[in-house]
Amino acid sequence: MRLKWSAAQQRRFRIGLREWYLRHQRPLPWRQTNDPYAIWVSEVMLQQTQVETVIPYYHRFLSGFPDVYRLAEASLQDVLKLWEGLGYYARVRHLHQAAQQLVRDYGGQLPESFEQWKQLPGVGDYIAAAVCSIAFNLPYAVVDGNVKRVLSRLLGCELPINQTSATRQYRMLAQELLDIRQPGQHNQAMMELGATVCKPRRPQCASCPVQKFCLAFKDGRQETLPLRLPGNSIPEYIIAVGVVHKNGKVLITRRKAEGLLGGLWEFPGGKVRAGESPAQACRREILEEVGLQIKVEAPIAQIRHAYSHFKIVLHVFHCSYLEGSVKLNGPVDYRWVALQELNNYPFPGANRKFIPRLLEATSCSDNPSG
Ligand code: SF4
Repeated sequence: MRLKWSAAQQRRFRIGLREWYLRHQRPLPWRQTNDPYAIWVSEVMLQQTQVETVIPYYHRFLSGFPDVYRLAEASLQDVLKLWEGLGYYARVRHLHQAAQQLVRDYGGQLPESFEQWKQLPGVGDYIAAAVCSIAFNLPYAVVDGNVKRVLSRLLGCELPINQTSATRQYRMLAQELLDIRQPGQHNQAMMELGATVCKPRRPQCASCPVQKFCLAFKDGRQETLPLRLPGNSIPEYIIAVGVVHKNGKVLITRRKAEGLLGGLWEFPGGKVRAGESPAQACRREILEEVGLQIKVEAPIAQIRHAYSHFKIVLHVFHCSYLEGSVKLNGPVDYRWVALQELNNYPFPGANRKFIPRLLEATSCSDNPSG
């Protein structure tokens, strides 16, 4: 699909969009800076997370790691700690690796070319285009979910926005529409339009600055576009987790650095098998994963948590240590820690949901059920 607008139409569209953006943009913190590092951090955070959630994390992260050098020299654990709760932890592991690569190979200079950005861990078309256009004014169109929705409606495009092969088409359309004199502002205006006016449900066409260009509005299809391919149903897993008490401390383990929740700490446990009770699974998993014989004591909580592609129900138990010494099979590290020390470690969101209950409900005894 190609853009069929005349040059004059394109010019009028860009001017209308830019004027609206200059008047109506939200005063977001990453819009108050020209620092490419801060813009990069914000775009990584915004990739899969809502603006309102990102704002406090953005401030905390930049006060902890104000430049690429401070981020590069930090430990992964400290970096994960400031990201804790934001989810999609591969983003921050890659950000950390990329900072180390920039300091090692470029003396800490952030690249000013799209191709160089794409060489960095975790940097795809979206991040490279966003940083190059916003921080360096380079002519690369950004395509995220908001932009695809705006383009689909504006141009009456029926390519499903969740189809991988369609993203290339949307990128070409976005690139044709881009204001190459002010690409950063144009990209931000497109994303802002999608986020605040051309919303997924009930787009506010009456106050839309580009309504007169919009095919979906003209045809009354703004509620039916964009199209989406039907998604797969999301599986749900039952997980048993044990808080193993020994001599006033509890056992936590660290996940390997790669993969889901990589590098985070957690309480040992795993999936409940068919025909097994959560308590039986807890005992088996702890023996398999850390080599300890334990006794399952009182339940602590049942926690529901959703990830992007699956959901879990955690059954969490107090457990007493019986015998054995820790032998790791899966985790890469472990600690026996006092409950008060738990806040020093980065945990996944599902663990964070029951830690406060754990702190309230136990008096740190070796006999948690007593
Ligand atoms: Fe979206 Fe409505 Fe504007 Fe079209 S007129 S771009 S559907 S808000």
